[in-house]
Amino acid sequence: MTSGLPHPHPPGAGMKASGPPGKQPLAEPPGPKVRTTRVKMSLLLRCLLLLWLPALQVSADWCYNNATCGPSTWVTLGMCNGTKQSPININSSAAVYNASLGAFSFTGYDNVSSMVSITNNGHSVEVELGEGVSISGGGLPDNYVALQFHFHWGNNVTNPGSEHRLDGMQFPMELHIVHTRKGVNLTTATSDPQGIAVLGFFINVAPVNVDSTGLSNILKNISTTNSKISNPGLHISINTLLSGVDLTQYFRYSGSLTTPNCSESVIWTVFKNPILLPSSLINALPATLLNAQNVPLVNVFRPPQPLNSRQVMTSVKTASTTTGPTSSSSTTKSSSGQDATRLPSLSGLTALTLAVLVSLLFRN
Ligand SMILES: [Zn+2]
Repeated sequence: MTSGLPHPHPPGAGMKASGPPGKQPLAEPPGPKVRTTRVKMSLLLRCLLLLWLPALQVSADWCYNNATCGPSTWVTLGMCNGTKQSPININSSAAVYNASLGAFSFTGYDNVSSMVSITNNGHSVEVELGEGVSISGGGLPDNYVALQFHFHWGNNVTNPGSEHRLDGMQFPMELHIVHTRKGVNLTTATSDPQGIAVLGFFINVAPVNVDSTGLSNILKNISTTNSKISNPGLHISINTLLSGVDLTQYFRYSGSLTTPNCSESVIWTVFKNPILLPSSLINALPATLLNAQNVPLVNVFRPPQPLNSRQVMTSVKTASTTTGPTSSSSTTKSSSGQDATRLPSLSGLTALTLAVLVSLLFRN
């Protein structure tokens, strides 16, 4: 996930030095007392500079695809070298069933006006959510208020980019819906081990395709970093995005933000069933969006992190991808690797696609 936090900058980072270090006018040689004072000032400035340099390094922007700022370098940033980091590979057969992981209660997920802006933040596409969207239940200790959702992706459908993996499988994309504990702002939430609740959804390729011209047109408006569309008028609810996903089947573990500062403050819920989207829609993001260096925004995901001593729990009584034929929640993987029980979601998919296209027709 992306934190949505502004990048930290050291205090006074933009300030110039108070005095030029250049040549001083010739004058009488300073006396011993003046020299001592100057030496002390020099030492003080050097100490301040040494203190300042690590701060500058923390403030340095991070990235996904450059050796100088990519995920392998994040260990110097915030908590990215912690022991409860995300994402992880979820081994479904090792996940422990937990009866307290019941159904979620979703508020505002059916609101077609909840998406108030769409931003290319240079790392992902982030959709800001308005007030009144929240979740509870699902084994969460509190109510959690939704702030935004965003995506992670690879290069195209054949070069996947989900952050979490399921039994070693990386999906083409992943959706993260980010919530903070009710009454707690995001900054405070990042210092609470249960301050943030993220719902993660794998996105897989649907066995149908559509013309993605409409989506490409809207993405063109945010192709460059920091470009934003306010009040996009999408008229799509979050529920529409999640059509066809069995929201009672999920995995649960304690983890972190997947972007710096990687604070270990996230209760992760990763749903077993993927959202299905046409390949043309999946390809549209990496083909259209640019990062801060105006380079295509591709492979925007952090690799899996060590599980360490954590235990992944699940709401699924039989966590294996295949279950008995009498189970109402049984799923069978087709030869293409797609879940045969997900085919009915195509109606939701069609609704989503039509909603996007219709909204774009009105926009353009
Ligand atoms: Zn994310």
